Amino acid sequence: MRLCRFNDTRFGMVDGAQVADITEALDVLPPVRWPLPLGDLMVANLPSIVKRAQSLLPAAKRLPLADCRLLSPVGNPSKVMGAPLNYRDHIDESKTDSMRHDHKLTTAEDQGLFLKAGSSLIGPGQSILQRFPTRRSDHEAELAIVIGKQGRNIPQDEVRNHIAGACIGLDMTVRGPEFQCFRKSPDTYCVLGPWLTTLDDCPDLANIDFSLEVNGELRQKSNTSYMIVSIERLITIASTYSTLYPGDVVLTGTCSGVGPVKPGDVITTEFRGLGRMEVQVA
Ligand code: MN
Repeated sequence: MRLCRFNDTRFGMVDGAQVADITEALDVLPPVRWPLPLGDLMVANLPSIVKRAQSLLPAAKRLPLADCRLLSPVGNPSKVMGAPLNYRDHIDESKTDSMRHDHKLTTAEDQGLFLKAGSSLIGPGQSILQRFPTRRSDHEAELAIVIGKQGRNIPQDEVRNHIAGACIGLDMTVRGPEFQCFRKSPDTYCVLGPWLTTLDDCPDLANIDFSLEVNGELRQKSNTSYMIVSIERLITIASTYSTLYPGDVVLTGTCSGVGPVKPGDVITTEFRGLGRMEVQVA
């Protein structure tokens, strides 16, 4: 199932060029009181949401997908974690770009993962707001894994049971001397979308062709099979340090072709089987 959030308060299922409005499915969520449980309530209750959605679908109102303003499919992750260098060709280009000599040229096996503020999250229907117009902000197209089940010290062969699904991620980054987590966390610098594809409907996550264009010009093109540290291993490493909660997001790293964007640009990212999203830079 391909689940989306749209038009501020609506919840939908994407079906071809249409979105079925299944906002009523959220009625199955348990009432909560402060302090709210960590993690995303929708993802934590995904099986009952999907079940209710299926019963609502036949009578659900359908809208053209093109008319829907898509938000991040995950509303309230307790954290967004990201893999550092995880594609060989991106390590090679980082060696020759002085603007990127800002972190060690090693993988998550040595560096672990970084954190990106939850407040940086937007969907493709919103715009990336260039935080510092005179400084360089780069795009990084990444496969984003959404955690479905709470866990810590998750063994690699059990990771699959902890994944809710996947979506496209843009790990936007300001280049410069500040801490990496700080430069990756301005508002709007984490784009997730266009929707959450639940794991049963995902293609083989370890073999997805993907690409990123800026204003129609191809910048990044690779396949997730070229990851150095696997999805399973990344999640095992992440869960060794932090408990992972439903809705937590793991960005799995980017390939070569990382480059700057400026206001007015349109970033188009496609991951085969997960969709295609267009995001404006403002
Ligand atoms: Mn990245």
